Amino acid sequence: MIQELAINGGKPVREKLLPYGHQWIDEEDIKAVTEILRSDWITQGPKVIEFEKEFANYVNARYAIAVSSGTAALHAACFAAQIEKGNEVITTPITFVASANCVIYQRGVPIFVDIREDTLNIDPVEIKKKITKKTKALIPVDFTGLPVDLEKILQIAKNNKLIIIEDASHALGATYKGSKIGSISDMTIFSFHPVKHITTGEGGMITTNNKEYYGRLKLFRTHGITKDKDKLLNYDGPWYYEMQELGYNYRLTDFQCALGLSQLKKIDRIIQRRKEIVQKYNYEFKDMPEIKIPQINPVDSNPAWHIYMIQLSLERLKVERREIFEALRAENIGVNVHYIPVHLQPYYQKRFGYHLGDFPRAENYYSRAITLPVFPKMSDRDVDDVIKAVKKIINYYKK
Ligand SMILES: *Cc1c(COP(=O)(O)O)cnc(C)c1O
Repeated sequence: MIQELAINGGKPVREKLLPYGHQWIDEEDIKAVTEILRSDWITQGPKVIEFEKEFANYVNARYAIAVSSGTAALHAACFAAQIEKGNEVITTPITFVASANCVIYQRGVPIFVDIREDTLNIDPVEIKKKITKKTKALIPVDFTGLPVDLEKILQIAKNNKLIIIEDASHALGATYKGSKIGSISDMTIFSFHPVKHITTGEGGMITTNNKEYYGRLKLFRTHGITKDKDKLLNYDGPWYYEMQELGYNYRLTDFQCALGLSQLKKIDRIIQRRKEIVQKYNYEFKDMPEIKIPQINPVDSNPAWHIYMIQLSLERLKVERREIFEALRAENIGVNVHYIPVHLQPYYQKRFGYHLGDFPRAENYYSRAITLPVFPKMSDRDVDDVIKAVKKIINYYKK
């Protein structure tokens, strides 16, 4: 029996909208934050150092720098890599705009290359074709939480003397060939936006094993100002500081870092729950030819699953993605689309001359993609609702 879709006036699968992502804050988190609010430190203080230390420890990196957002982390990394006017930096169009915008902040030029159809990550073969004398860095993105093929990318970077700034906003806790994401690239950045694995409200982190990058990142976070006696050019007295570079105020507060520390304690449970949900979706959807589910991992890695993407077989369904999307929303499933290819954003088209047709694999992916909800606080009932709604709608529209 075919049920009437909510979009056509039927009863929705759920009463209330289920978001695609949501933070998980418990009483311990609240206690950790209120403790700091009652202490002497409100802005950058001891909790920042503690959070950085624990985070570096977790991802197995020598240094970690906490900043005010993932976007600030990307900007700081571009500064540390000395991206300057005219430098080209290669990244993927299937990402959040910030992965490319950070290059423009430093007056560099973002260069997009197409994705791999199986992993949806940047295609190393395409990277090679776009390297010029002006190329300075690569910004690969671990889209959905599935690590990029770092071995190939490291080799390309080595052969061409390029710096790798890995955008691991989706991949906290993932591993690549046994190594933690955050310990491999020259610099790796993370975001603590509420939909990400752990949150500080807004916040971000850069990890690196390179002392020089670490020094530059620290300068950049606080206006380019240092009080470090070893670095000062002059010394007028105990009050003295120097602004040696043009930096920003990208500091994270102590109470946010207290939240980050508290959240980091739960990271294993968070990743485990995300994995369970993804496994359930994979199992339920594997025999439905109308939707393509994330591919079996083609690189030897352990993904951290920030989001779950399905791709519709529009040939079988004979409707636009939009109709399926709106039907799912009407069932109160908070589906989303990650991402509108960055090169198709009006700003990028106008400023850099990109247009539809430039990256066929990315565009083809975009035309069929739908993001299903995944977040650790989802109950089994929530997960079942998503499955029920997807099956209801696909069964309705197929042939
Ligand atoms: C979330 C995200 C960012 C930006 O992080 P903010 O903390 O929101 O500034 C950058 N890149 C990717 C891939 C992201 O998902």
